Amino acid sequence: MSQASGYAAQSAKTPLGPFSFDRREPGPNDVVIDIKFCGICHSDLHQARDEWGGGIFPMVPGHEIAGVVRAVGSAVTHFKVGDHVGVGCFVDSCRTCIECTAGDDNYCQKGITLTYNGLDKQGQPTYGGYSDHIVVDENYVLSIPENLPLDAASPLLCAGITLYSPLKHWGAGPGKRVAIVGLGGLGHMGVKLAHAMGAHVTVLSQTMKKADDAKKLGADEFYAMNDPETVKKLANSFDLIISTVGVSMDFTPYLAMLKKDSTMVLVGAPEGNSQLNSFGLIVNRKSLAGSMIGSIEETQEMLDFCGRHNIVSDIEVIKADYINEAYERMLKSDVRYRFVIDLASLKN
Ligand code: NAP
Ligand code: ZN
Ligand code: ZN
Repeated sequence: MSQASGYAAQSAKTPLGPFSFDRREPGPNDVVIDIKFCGICHSDLHQARDEWGGGIFPMVPGHEIAGVVRAVGSAVTHFKVGDHVGVGCFVDSCRTCIECTAGDDNYCQKGITLTYNGLDKQGQPTYGGYSDHIVVDENYVLSIPENLPLDAASPLLCAGITLYSPLKHWGAGPGKRVAIVGLGGLGHMGVKLAHAMGAHVTVLSQTMKKADDAKKLGADEFYAMNDPETVKKLANSFDLIISTVGVSMDFTPYLAMLKKDSTMVLVGAPEGNSQLNSFGLIVNRKSLAGSMIGSIEETQEMLDFCGRHNIVSDIEVIKADYINEAYERMLKSDVRYRFVIDLASLKN
């Protein structure tokens, strides 16, 4: 066992604070990673405040982990000391079900082992990336291309793959009109990735505040949903809409902007139920779908794609003692566009 230091929520009602805990003794297939940076995902906030229920406390959040290999077990073949590596939302799966064997391990039928707020196969709680090191089986460790800086690459491990997977699955590319709803951590990665895939990209934001930023990120068009003309103007416009909004909402106005036979995909995961009027789907045979992160294989494919296209996140690097303030700012949509914790700040 090794002693780790990190930041944890002791309960759903308490702010995060310093926390010491044990990491398992590395086995032959394990990689020990010195965590350099960890992005703050809105899912961290949902879970630290137990908005989805079933939270395991104390909870050390963090699943956008970027670091450097400190040591490898005797059977590890893909990694060596000093490599730049990442860990995303899960650190194990059953490896034998139909989804795992098909390379869709994120949809493991027995359930993935979450990087934090989960139980490993020994029944021990998992602790995430708001910490100085982590021990992970090499099959769930990703290679981060050397040309990408570790701080700005860390959000690719969740925000990046969560948008890459549906963009690819639903065919974003040249000649396709894609709308991204919500320009936050996930949304801004969606803009960059969809643009790099060759799609025509529109951002649907609450207000016009982020319009200039969106163009710089690669958006072709930007509209505010608080303008009553937006939905009328954009009726029957999009081949694909991806919503990253993490609060309950009415999908009906968004569905009106889809073309016939097109799909709106939800990746935003609010605690409550949302609404829609069935006619929003019936007329013009539209679909409403969901998507959850991506497989290990697809995550590596996304990282390699980002390496080739030089895509990283726009970040604000913070010290660990700023996490609680960062959460409050995230709730106000005041992030440009991902908070990333510098774990060296744990030592101070
Ligand atoms: P974020 O950085 O807070 O971004 C969410 C964005 O949604 C905001 O920046 C804002 O964009 C928009 N928004 C906020 N409140 C809104 C409201 N009341 N009405 C309309 N739009 C609103 O969060 P994130 O880290 O990108 O995560 C977004 C959601 O995705 C969370 O629920 C998270 O748990 C979920 N998630 C899902 C997966 C998955 O696998 N499906 C993976 C990761 C995260 P504007 O300022 O542009 O309006
Ligand atoms: Zn996440
Ligand atoms: Zn499985």
